[in-house]
Amino acid sequence: MTEEREPALLEAAGLVKRYAAKKRVRNPENGKWENAWVQAVDNVSFSLEERETLGIVGESGCGKSTLARCIMKLTPLSGGKLLFRGREVSGMSQREFRELRPKIQMVFQNPYSSFNPKLTLGRSLKTVGKAVGIAPGEYRERLGKLLEYTGLAEEMLERHPGQLSGGQLQRFALLRALLPQPELLVADEPVSALDVSVQAQILGLLLDLRERLALTMLFISHDLSVVRHVCGRVMVMYLGTVVETAETEELFSHPLHPYTQALIAAAPREYPGQEKERVLLGGEIPNAMEMPTGCRFHPRCPRCVPGMCDQVSPEWRERGAGHFVACHLVGE
Ligand code: SF4
Repeated sequence: MTEEREPALLEAAGLVKRYAAKKRVRNPENGKWENAWVQAVDNVSFSLEERETLGIVGESGCGKSTLARCIMKLTPLSGGKLLFRGREVSGMSQREFRELRPKIQMVFQNPYSSFNPKLTLGRSLKTVGKAVGIAPGEYRERLGKLLEYTGLAEEMLERHPGQLSGGQLQRFALLRALLPQPELLVADEPVSALDVSVQAQILGLLLDLRERLALTMLFISHDLSVVRHVCGRVMVMYLGTVVETAETEELFSHPLHPYTQALIAAAPREYPGQEKERVLLGGEIPNAMEMPTGCRFHPRCPRCVPGMCDQVSPEWRERGAGHFVACHLVGE
């Protein structure tokens, strides 16, 4: 008898997000002027197992935050399938998704813009408790525990967001996300808007909460040293597509894609005297309305082979256990 495999906590298959832009561009194939589309996420697939932390990295504009918003159903997908514990959520209406919403929560980059400035923190949290249907006794118990775990004093519940520091408010943002007892936490650049001095504290808290509450995380960041510290596996995105994915240590010790190599080379040294090979990237990130032909990275790639890279999209191939990359030259 074959044992049935448990579905992954989250499974994404060929996710696509397109926006109509207020601009017309010439179609390079037929020379006609057409409405422009921004291809923010293009054919992104991955799976996330229970208790795993998957990092998504790339420069700003690579589509990582749009991908997070699609997963949260804050913006509709244009294509592809998203499954949570084997249930398809991509086709669900907001009403159908309401039952699952407590299980998938998000922490945003800027804690000041993620709370209503007119409400005390206590009121904001109560609103969440009511929205997800937590009974009053249960609510008090959960809140007490989470205040303790996040190191926040109860009297702070009487304050307004503007009366707290960025670090304190991000602790409240974490508390709010954890109140519904989620199984998946999507953290979108959770420390990048904070002072450097408090970034390490919030990261430490996030790791502590992940262990205590057995969380699965999707961790989005442009900061590779943070991703290396937090994630077990990493997915590198460029202009809406995934160009490489591997276990974290494998990716950092053997990056195969020229873009990953450049990102790692550009990251600050983790210790004094660390040797790094410099990989210089040419040019700017192309305009997402006028996607480069062939490999999207070719206009900036130091290893671009004219006639091939600018014309043919590289295939997604496995180059070692769990190490996948999309580049014509890898393995040649
Ligand atoms: Fe560079 Fe060509 Fe590889 Fe793209 S396919 S990353 S242009 S070498």
